[in-house]
Amino acid sequence: MSADQPSPVVQRIESEVRRRRTFAIISHPDAGKTTLTEKLLLFSGAIQIAGSVKARKASRHATSDWMEIEKQRGISVASSVMQMEYRDCVINLLDTPGHQDFSEDTYRVLTAVDAALMVIDAANGVEPQTRRLLQVCRARNTPILTFVNKMDREVQEPLALMDEIERELGMTVVPFTWPVGMGKQFHGVMDLRQQRMRVFAPGEDRVAGTEEVLDGLDNPAYAERFGMQYDNAQGEIELVREAAPEFNLEDFLAGRQTPMFFGSAVNNFGVQEVLDALVELAPAPDERPAMQRVVKPEEPKFSGVVFKIQANMDPAHRDRIAFLRVASGHFERGMRLKVVRSGKELRPNTVVSFLSQRRELLDEAFAGDIIGIPNHGVLQLGDTITEGEALQFTGLPFFAPEMFRSVEVADPLKTKQLKAGLQQLGEEGAIQVFRPIAGSVLLLGAVGQLQFEVVAHRLEHEYGVKARIMPSRFQVARWVTCEDPQELKRFIDANDHRMAYDAVDAPTVLVEYAPELRAIESNWPKIKFHALREHA
Ligand code: GDP
Repeated sequence: MSADQPSPVVQRIESEVRRRRTFAIISHPDAGKTTLTEKLLLFSGAIQIAGSVKARKASRHATSDWMEIEKQRGISVASSVMQMEYRDCVINLLDTPGHQDFSEDTYRVLTAVDAALMVIDAANGVEPQTRRLLQVCRARNTPILTFVNKMDREVQEPLALMDEIERELGMTVVPFTWPVGMGKQFHGVMDLRQQRMRVFAPGEDRVAGTEEVLDGLDNPAYAERFGMQYDNAQGEIELVREAAPEFNLEDFLAGRQTPMFFGSAVNNFGVQEVLDALVELAPAPDERPAMQRVVKPEEPKFSGVVFKIQANMDPAHRDRIAFLRVASGHFERGMRLKVVRSGKELRPNTVVSFLSQRRELLDEAFAGDIIGIPNHGVLQLGDTITEGEALQFTGLPFFAPEMFRSVEVADPLKTKQLKAGLQQLGEEGAIQVFRPIAGSVLLLGAVGQLQFEVVAHRLEHEYGVKARIMPSRFQVARWVTCEDPQELKRFIDANDHRMAYDAVDAPTVLVEYAPELRAIESNWPKIKFHALREHA
């Protein structure tokens, strides 16, 4: 072997990394995420029968029943990550929770993906939750593919939709397909790159490769067969051709351009094109910055970062599953690993992998893959795991909560259990816990109302603590830092009535109204106020 020839181990890692695609679907509830997920699994051959993902979702919606939530936590572990093989690629699809269980979790999941697929309901355009998720993607320059769904309904005009997406995203939209008609008159899509038309036929029975395809974009037979809708589409395509730039892979990878596809997930229409685009355009895992250095995916030594922690089903065992994104190297079950933060050794013999609905033991994993490691609290959010090297990956975001509650125990003898329970739930990322400097009542912070309910329920059932969750006057939180430690101390002392420490002892200022925060900011020009804290 010559000196500049990579070793067989590295060569194998390189080729495995190259075929990985790790992405999440983002959408507003009801846009069709579940349906599309299922169809992607179906088209890749990962599942045989449609309906299985939907069945899971149906139970997920029954959030009023707490027993259901318990059950679903087990289910959602399995459905949090789906792995499928398509063509010569291994696709990891990460679930982002819907509105009911929406929480900070979703944001952190987006740090573990290399691309996102945005599903838009063609009738509703860009909706609020999509917008929030997009902000996270945009902040990280995550490449985004756009799927405009439900073309079998009466929806908005495609040009208007394209314009709206472009404005909302702040990136250029490049249509890869263009619809011919909509609703009852939906005839199919023009594939602008392959120069052919795919004819729409309603129904779920069709599988890949069985739809009617007509060659050419202006086949003379089209006008007769598809009438006015065809004429309109022709005009629109011409406009788009003049206005939209050519697709540029580099711009897509930098998050400046998004390819747009039209379809109808429920009718299996347009799904294949999206799957193909994912494989062809979405990037393989790339290098990731750690505080010490940049880590390349094909490095032989294993490294990974915990981006999500989920309590397991069995409350008696307090098992948790840490979700790790592999950043480099080759993971094998039973290998000796180290938790960099604590120096503790980890030897994951039982590891959860997630293929469709099946939980099965995982034998090996490469960069881009997700590993689920059951543990009893050894692993925390943001933890870096290596074979021994002291590395700390950056970039796992904590968002300033937008809702606050104070929490007390009904039985003062249970104060210790409350603290222990909240610490664990905090480590999981289920809630943020703040200790105010003044007073002894703990504060909970969340971005979604449901987080409080889940925490109260879990405190009672897993820690035997009946907690009183009460309104709080605070509405805004900002982490504070300052280059001058003396100035920071002065700030904390002067504001001790509204200062608190979070789970990692980061000082946080809490205020009741946004204008109050602006006043504080202008009074303390040297202090920095952060709405986002990155785990480091
Ligand atoms: P999610 O909340 O984003 O996961 O959305 P779902 O996948 O559950 O879809 C919401 C609703 O829209 C369901 O009733 C689906 O059957 C329906 N739906 C999904 N895709 C389409 C489509 O292409 N056309 C029509 N007409 N309905 C669809």
